[in-house]
Amino acid sequence: MKDLQPITLPGLDSIRPLLIAGPCSAETEEQLLTTAHSLARHGVQIFRAGLWKPRTKPGGFEGVGTEGMAWMRRVKEETGMFTATEVATRAHVEAALEGGIDLLWIGARTAANPFAMQEIADTLKGVDIPVLVKNPVSPDLELWIGALERIYNAGIRRLGAIHRGFTWVDKSIYRNHPFWTIPIELHRRIPNLPILCDPSHIGGKRELIAPLSQQAMDLGFDGLLIEAHCAPDTAWSDKAQQVAPDTLAFIISNLILRDMNTTTDNLNELRRQIDKLDDELIDLLARRMQVATEIGRYKKAHNLSVLQSQRYEDILARRARQAVEAGMDREFMRSVMQAIHEESIRQQLKVIE
Ligand code: PEP
Ligand code: MN
Repeated sequence: MKDLQPITLPGLDSIRPLLIAGPCSAETEEQLLTTAHSLARHGVQIFRAGLWKPRTKPGGFEGVGTEGMAWMRRVKEETGMFTATEVATRAHVEAALEGGIDLLWIGARTAANPFAMQEIADTLKGVDIPVLVKNPVSPDLELWIGALERIYNAGIRRLGAIHRGFTWVDKSIYRNHPFWTIPIELHRRIPNLPILCDPSHIGGKRELIAPLSQQAMDLGFDGLLIEAHCAPDTAWSDKAQQVAPDTLAFIISNLILRDMNTTTDNLNELRRQIDKLDDELIDLLARRMQVATEIGRYKKAHNLSVLQSQRYEDILARRARQAVEAGMDREFMRSVMQAIHEESIRQQLKVIE
């Protein structure tokens, strides 16, 4: 995806973070316009509102549909903001293009479905509009990249991603677990792809929007998608995670934007130390593998099995405990030891076969 273009719109200031804000759902014409006018007064340039709402269960508020398109046009005419909405089907894309929506995004449930993604991509062939693809609900980077590729193959070049967190089994403070390594890896794989963060859907509560936004800025994200509503507590969907427009303005004005490119001598010195430690780590690992290979030879000579589960369990448990004492995460150390063990087994199998 070498020829991707930045997410620009005619007349949009190219400021970081790129900010898209507005209610989870368009509810009434009055709610939409009141929210839009306040956000515009606070300098927001791209206004979001969901017209078609994908709900986990039937019976919830499923959006006002195409009826809201005229309201979105009023938002544009009266405030001068650009408008953005979520599309999930061919009919949505056609209605949005017909209605003059400026930017489309694809939701997490849709991004998880290759058939739906392909249908949207086919409808977008020959159209020049910015499209943002949210991560699929499951922590599956390949599925996310696949969804992005389908839109890219349709000819869309103003393409971006939105990180909105992932469904996860463990209970945590988040509605959707951030798994920051996934968007970081997406950036490594497609460096010129703009990535926005959606702290509303990650956090699920308005108190988490500010810290998550700051975290996203610290990690070098290009922008933010935040849910804002004129009366958040009365919202028809996602009320706990929406903020009033003046709160949004306060959150944005307090963000600390770090310089992602320039480095100081101090930083260079610290990076040299990291590089040196990494050299040592690799050297140590190679030595550990040599010992593992020796063990492999011994096991072969004495007809012993390569995998000795009890010994493996002991290593995992002991090192995880030791890591916690040294101020590291238990799960982190378990994954490190698992990866090392996997490579040891591979090396042992080589000498046994
Ligand atoms: C939304 O942006 O309101 C939405 C439905 O988000 P997601 O697809 O991330 O759940
Ligand atoms: Mn929402």
